Amino acid sequence: MSVNVAEVFGADVFNEAVMKERLPEETYRQMMKLMDEGGEITLALADVVAKSMKDWAIEKGATHYTHIFQPYIVSGAAEKHDSFADVPEKGRIENSFSGKNLLMGEPDASSFPSGGLRATCSARGYTAWDITSPVYVRDRILYIPTVFLSYTGESLDTKTPLLKSIEAVSKAGVRFVKMFGNTEAKKIIAAVGPEQEYFIVDRDKYLKRPDLIYTGRTLFGAPAPKGQEMEDHYFGSLRETISNYMDDCNEQLWRLGITAKTQHNEVAPAQHEIAPIFAKSNIAMDANMVVMDVLKKTATKHGLQCLLHEKPYAGVNGSGKHNNWSLSTDNGVNLFKPGEEPYKNKQFLLVIACLMEAVKKHSLLLRAVASNTGNDHRLGANEAPPAIISIYMGDQLGDIVNQIIETGKADHCAHSGKIDLGVKTLPVIEKDPTDRNRTSPFAFTGNRFEFRMVASSASIGDSNTVLNTMMAESFTKACEALEGAEDFDAAVDEYITKVMRENKDIVFNGNGYSDEWVEEAERRGLPNCKSVVDAIDASFSDPKTIELFTKFGVMTEAELEARKEIKLEEYSSLINIEAKTMIDMAGKEYIPSVMEYTTELANSLNKVTSACPEADVTPQKELLIEVSSLLSETNKALTSLKALLKDADKQGDTAATAKYYRNTIMPAMEALRSPVDELEEIVDTKYWPVPTYGELMFEV
Ligand code: ADP
Ligand code: MG
Repeated sequence: MSVNVAEVFGADVFNEAVMKERLPEETYRQMMKLMDEGGEITLALADVVAKSMKDWAIEKGATHYTHIFQPYIVSGAAEKHDSFADVPEKGRIENSFSGKNLLMGEPDASSFPSGGLRATCSARGYTAWDITSPVYVRDRILYIPTVFLSYTGESLDTKTPLLKSIEAVSKAGVRFVKMFGNTEAKKIIAAVGPEQEYFIVDRDKYLKRPDLIYTGRTLFGAPAPKGQEMEDHYFGSLRETISNYMDDCNEQLWRLGITAKTQHNEVAPAQHEIAPIFAKSNIAMDANMVVMDVLKKTATKHGLQCLLHEKPYAGVNGSGKHNNWSLSTDNGVNLFKPGEEPYKNKQFLLVIACLMEAVKKHSLLLRAVASNTGNDHRLGANEAPPAIISIYMGDQLGDIVNQIIETGKADHCAHSGKIDLGVKTLPVIEKDPTDRNRTSPFAFTGNRFEFRMVASSASIGDSNTVLNTMMAESFTKACEALEGAEDFDAAVDEYITKVMRENKDIVFNGNGYSDEWVEEAERRGLPNCKSVVDAIDASFSDPKTIELFTKFGVMTEAELEARKEIKLEEYSSLINIEAKTMIDMAGKEYIPSVMEYTTELANSLNKVTSACPEADVTPQKELLIEVSSLLSETNKALTSLKALLKDADKQGDTAATAKYYRNTIMPAMEALRSPVDELEEIVDTKYWPVPTYGELMFEV
């Protein structure tokens, strides 16, 4: 079935065009002003908007409405549906939806993590409409994007701090560009294009893997004979099952006003990617939540399962969410755009100096917020991207930065040039000034920086909150140093040189996967934090983090402390679920199956020997010995994991518990996995209780 993208795009969104058409002129004007400049929405205004929204939604088939928000850490969004039903009069009802219903909600917040900000007995939480993010109808529900706060006003979600960071960088950025004579700019817009990676697996096979069901990743599994070594999957042509699935997802996303743009196979077998066109970061964050939800729900409809986990399979690439991030003025200047002659572009070079300073100063915090439990299997596990944060500048900018560091000024730059293929019918290609470097966690890609560490299943909120706030800090520092300088040009040159020299160690243009880089980074004193647990513990309580967030009004110290608690608690809970799932699978599936197999081997051995005493039964014997010994190893590892897990709640505070899970439980899980995976390679297939890696990755 063919779809005209332009026709379906935004069909289910209460967007500007719908508002213009349906709202009274004055209400429309007020709404546009509020959306642009902020301010308080009166109940009277909200009543008018709500009425129009309700009528529109009902025409779209909606029966319910819900506030939708992203509670801190619970991946995915939270929603609670209320129907439009009102109190009946004479047995009949009106559809009801008021301005108050639109503006705020009062969900019971006690079941969401608060990290100690709120005792369970004071359960009240509030949701408040974020008018900057569009309202839409999906599956007969009117969705209203909101923020989520505690009774005492602390943020309990990922969006409130992001919105505050957007304001912080906007304010500091406007002050910054003003120094360069841009007095027109009223705002700085932080934009993001998140590339979403995911795996697809056949749903029937998925349902036979308790580890995938409970944890989203395989906790056991020997490698398939084929992995990603042939590199034949990346950009390969899409199989029909997958392209039908993607078509379905795209159409739903377009209807919801989400610009699903790029789709392709990724490096690992059964791995794919979808990317929208970049948007303002709070809108991009909401849209990405919808993308993840559509990917999951649509897969089920197609007999598939979508895995958003960062590392569903050992031995092949995991999934991330490349966060393409830029800052632009509202009068159209992208601060990360080098222009024709970047070495003369002072504003751009100062922005780069500020960025170097910010990334160097907050590298551990960046590492911590981009990570979650699943991402630990990617970062620091010889995979993209490495756990060490560094910036890749590319050839042209890298050379300019070098010139400045070495000589105090840059007087030329490499030009990109053309590639002439020498075939008359082929076009001459304009080269980009930057090549790509897939091994860098933070790469300059011509007009934006691509932060590649972000976890595939997580909200992009936290990462962008840090990116924006750290730039607000560096911009402010630059303004304080340079505003009012007698000779502004000379002062800027001097400042750029000073800051680039002080922070030169954060730049690395080589291969981020190499062992040499690990050694070099250590010499430079860059943190290489293998575990998210250590990164959170070290960065969230660091005075420079507290200063960063409090100074720019993004988070209070109490909010930050709560987030640290929540992240660490989440880590422990997830590893606990993984360990329990392994115990279950080993005890109830693998061990009984392997025992059956050993019985079969023993029977065969006895039968052959009694039928023919002189027959050579060495193969049967050797196999029986090998399988029995691995079985015994499995059993010992299982007993040990069970015992260790019992001690998990005796560790003391949240950080100590998380460290125990990381340093003691995880190795015990590895010790259990290893003999089972070895068994999988030798036990007769018909005894193996669950689908193998080969079946999961290649039979979709
Ligand atoms: P890649 O080749 O890196 O995989 P994709 O096309 O998959 O690139 O994704 C690139 C993402 O970067 C898209 O979401 C795109 O809209 C976004 N992007 C492009 N320009 C900017 C910009 N100036 N600011 C933020 N994001 C941008
Ligand atoms: Mg991409």
